[in-house]
Amino acid sequence: MRTPIVAGNWKMNMAVAEATGFVSEIREDLEGITGVEKIIAPPAVSLYALADLLDGGDIMLAAQNMYYEEKGAYTGEISPYMVGEYCSHVIIGHSERRTIFNESDEMVNRKVLAALKHDLTPIVCVGEDLALNEAGSTDSFVANQVRAALAGVAEGQASRLVLAYEPIWAIGTGKACDVDTAQHVIGSVIRNTLTELFGEDTAESIRILYGGSVKPANVASFMEQPDVDGALVGGASLKPTWVELTLNAAKAVAGV
Ligand code: PEP
Repeated sequence: MRTPIVAGNWKMNMAVAEATGFVSEIREDLEGITGVEKIIAPPAVSLYALADLLDGGDIMLAAQNMYYEEKGAYTGEISPYMVGEYCSHVIIGHSERRTIFNESDEMVNRKVLAALKHDLTPIVCVGEDLALNEAGSTDSFVANQVRAALAGVAEGQASRLVLAYEPIWAIGTGKACDVDTAQHVIGSVIRNTLTELFGEDTAESIRILYGGSVKPANVASFMEQPDVDGALVGGASLKPTWVELTLNAAKAVAGV
């Protein structure tokens, strides 16, 4: 039984006062929703304040990124050790990190290994761009991204992983992937690759999310897919309707 996850990636939005104001507004309603794990990934500067605000509740925090070294001369970076003070999770290899900040598969892999070493749950993002999609290369590209990101992960640690299939062409475009394709890539391509790497039992225990233009109106259709274990949401996590989206996800999981 894989407990589904609904995670909101705020990206580079909301300064600390806005972040605490927004979370104060939605906290009670969000905490009232059961049956899904709830995660918020704010910008790093808000982690301290939000960890304080959410203390004692069941909403978890994720960092949007981190470096793989523990400390040292890496100007501008934050380390797994720092992230671990406030967060249970960390998003690794988001397509914006890969494309805008040139993160390579190798760097993504180092970050995944560092997260696991520091008891953080990495939410490892993979997904093809439009050109690869139109060339019919999605399956092989995504499988290779998964292999590269998870190289060297010990079988005993693998069930702690969370993956997210986020086709780049669906991110922030309002054009979500159709649910059958999401189920195929997640249920066949990614889970089969996880089976190849870690064996069937472990592969079956790993949560795999869908991300890309998920909204309150379409989240249930993704959650209803047998292999889609939740959603990683960008734009729609910045609005009060985030509560509605999470509730719709929880209802779909409960079958109501
Ligand atoms: C994302 O950035 O991870 C994402 C899925 O964005 P959006 O929901 O806005 O498409």
